[in-house]
Amino acid sequence: MHNKTVAELARDLSQGTYSSVELTQHFLNRIKQEDTRYNSFITVTEDDALRDAKAADERRSKGEATPWTGIPFAHKDIFCTNGVRTTCASKMLENFVPPYDATVTARFRDAGAVCLGKTNMDEFAMGSSTENSHFGATTNPWGEKLVPGGSSGGSAAAVAARLTPAATATDTGGSIRQPAAFCGITGLKPTYGRVSRYGMIAFASSLDQGGTMSRTAEDSAMMLNVMAGFDPKDSTSVDQPVPDYTANLNAPLKGLRVGLPKEYFSDQLDPVMAQTVRDAVREYEALGATVKEISLPNTHLAIAAYYVIAPAEASANLSRFDGVRYGYRCDNPKDLMDLYTRTRAEGFGSEVKRRILVGSYALSAGFFDAYYLKAQKVRRLIQQDFVEAFKSVDIIMSPSTPSPAFALGSNTDDPVKMYLEDIFTIAINLAGVPAMSIPAGQIKGLPVGLQLIGNYFDEARLLNAAHQFQQATDWHQQSPAG
Ligand code: GLN
Repeated sequence: MHNKTVAELARDLSQGTYSSVELTQHFLNRIKQEDTRYNSFITVTEDDALRDAKAADERRSKGEATPWTGIPFAHKDIFCTNGVRTTCASKMLENFVPPYDATVTARFRDAGAVCLGKTNMDEFAMGSSTENSHFGATTNPWGEKLVPGGSSGGSAAAVAARLTPAATATDTGGSIRQPAAFCGITGLKPTYGRVSRYGMIAFASSLDQGGTMSRTAEDSAMMLNVMAGFDPKDSTSVDQPVPDYTANLNAPLKGLRVGLPKEYFSDQLDPVMAQTVRDAVREYEALGATVKEISLPNTHLAIAAYYVIAPAEASANLSRFDGVRYGYRCDNPKDLMDLYTRTRAEGFGSEVKRRILVGSYALSAGFFDAYYLKAQKVRRLIQQDFVEAFKSVDIIMSPSTPSPAFALGSNTDDPVKMYLEDIFTIAINLAGVPAMSIPAGQIKGLPVGLQLIGNYFDEARLLNAAHQFQQATDWHQQSPAG
């Protein structure tokens, strides 16, 4: 059962091949047996899952089933779950039990899906390796000494190891696409505003976006059908009609205009990586696409702009964790100042503190114009690069990452080296356009991701292009040994 996709499981459940209780128990058993190796879950909600599975089976027997009824999945531990601990992988929220559901959580609940638990991540989604977790690092099922990527590394590892058929995730600068690439799965970051951020613990509010992790594009389409849509509780949620994302998956790709940004295929790109990605692009040509070189001239400014804007927003968002309202509180504070400083010193990990320091500095009165304002202007230029490019192409393709999964510990002493891991993903968040990573090859037995970048609200086209590639190739079917 665990090798089946969400679409296949939905078919089996509707045909009565097995019940949701049996299916859910199967995945819970797998988590119990296998996750000591990967540490991909922070919390497993066995009792809730079995209760929800039973309820799903009852609804089905009354003829009230929909595509997600009784399907197990997992949430990144950044989505608030009513009554279930939500930690954001931080000591600060180690014992935080939200009294409400995030909109994404509520939508999956309403759809009848069965949540197996909450997945590991970098603390407050800050990182590219899932090594910055208060609950210990997650490892990559493709190699126990490798990182799964981050920050959504728990979701990616759990899907790759077949501990869950699918998982939610979030992407502020690459946290869906990079771990999806490293773990050989399919990940989609939708257009900014497509999926509600209500109840999704904020890192950098103008960049954060919830999305999907699954084995196939078809499953991602099924997930987006649940997740996407206007939410009056999120002021940046966009009121646009939601298509059925599964409806267009089989459209032929003939005439699809693909652009390859020359800045993403520079001399600095590892030649083996470049070749692997170009081979995948050739597959698109065989499917009827036309390919041309394009330019995104401000690409080289993206990381610098991001590492001003994201920490600035993070420093503001994380000011709420003060030991007064909720979350961790230090023991025996002497006075209010001691309460604030010790709570934050003890509750946050070092990467989170680094971001708060950088962000507070960039926003301070004397430096605001030089850093924050400047970064916002650069952001506009980057966005205009994409607007310009999409006048002549439908999809932009690039590598998702500079290399396959790197070794645990290899970047932890050098934050800048770690930041550069997101060189191909960050500009997309600054522009707000949607993008996917799909498995598209291997280097020395490790998965390589192809990034597909779309125009605003063009998720259906991305999913169609990804699905057609997956009909023609079997990279998405490769699984880690064991
Ligand atoms: N790795 C990037 C960072 O550390 C992006 C993280 C994310 O997308 N949440 O900020």
